[in-house]
Amino acid sequence: MNAAPPARRYTARAAVIGEDTRITRALPHRERRTVGAWCFLDHLGPVQFAAGKGMHVGAHPHIGLQTFTWMIEGEVVHRDSLGNEQIIRPGQVNLMTAGRGIAHSEDSMQDGTRIHAAQLWIALPATECHRPPGFQNYAELPVVDAGGLRATILAGSAFGRTAPTTVYTPLVGIDFAATGPAHTQVPLRADFEYCAVVLRGAATVADETLAPGEWLYFAPGRDMLELRAATETQLLLLGGVPFDERLIIWWNLVARTQGEIETALTDWKAGRFAPVRPGSPAEKLEAPSLGEVQLCAG
Ligand code: MN
Repeated sequence: MNAAPPARRYTARAAVIGEDTRITRALPHRERRTVGAWCFLDHLGPVQFAAGKGMHVGAHPHIGLQTFTWMIEGEVVHRDSLGNEQIIRPGQVNLMTAGRGIAHSEDSMQDGTRIHAAQLWIALPATECHRPPGFQNYAELPVVDAGGLRATILAGSAFGRTAPTTVYTPLVGIDFAATGPAHTQVPLRADFEYCAVVLRGAATVADETLAPGEWLYFAPGRDMLELRAATETQLLLLGGVPFDERLIIWWNLVARTQGEIETALTDWKAGRFAPVRPGSPAEKLEAPSLGEVQLCAG
């Protein structure tokens, strides 16, 4: 513990997905693009949509990654180009493995509703990045009481429990929720790097106070992390073996080369992705031109 370098503090930035749904984006950050293979961390809400409004992200493609949706409040329907239609409810994970290519849409079930979710991406390693696409809803995840914090194991193993979610590099994801004052020590893997993100309330993580909109990075070399909640609080702890493969993250695409990105964009524009199962009221998303280097996704 003593030898571990101090935590680094970062600020998440505001972004917009779909039809004007505002989110906070922690990853990628210009100084730190990945934590383990976690390469994207969007925090949506908690937001109360006005009457007639909701989250509507029209059909868009993904390659080279897994999208990992953790639903905290509200219900969202996912439709994809494999023909899946799946409602995700609070306490559940939707895990879509894009591999060589998939397209999907995401819509809140009711307009005028409250939504709170985290959408994470996991970069696939080179050996898996062209695998066939797949999709799975995980309705049940292991839950452990950790010093009064309710720990849900989203990915990997923690507190002697292993999540059922299929991932392709060593990583972990844990959601901690407290309804009042609570304190725990989380065993860490010394070969993992970690980040902590508060979703609501405020926490103290390794003696650093943390509120929504900020996040902390911990380099490898720690074997334990202290978590304290003074009030109703929820936070995510994500970690993994540092991902040292070169990645290009552009729009909704993760690849090794510019050529791969260009091929996927051309295929999307030419309608060569299989059609997404119909039902979303949102328009198909148009890819930005390659000249506009911006990150934009949902
Ligand atoms: Mn998506």
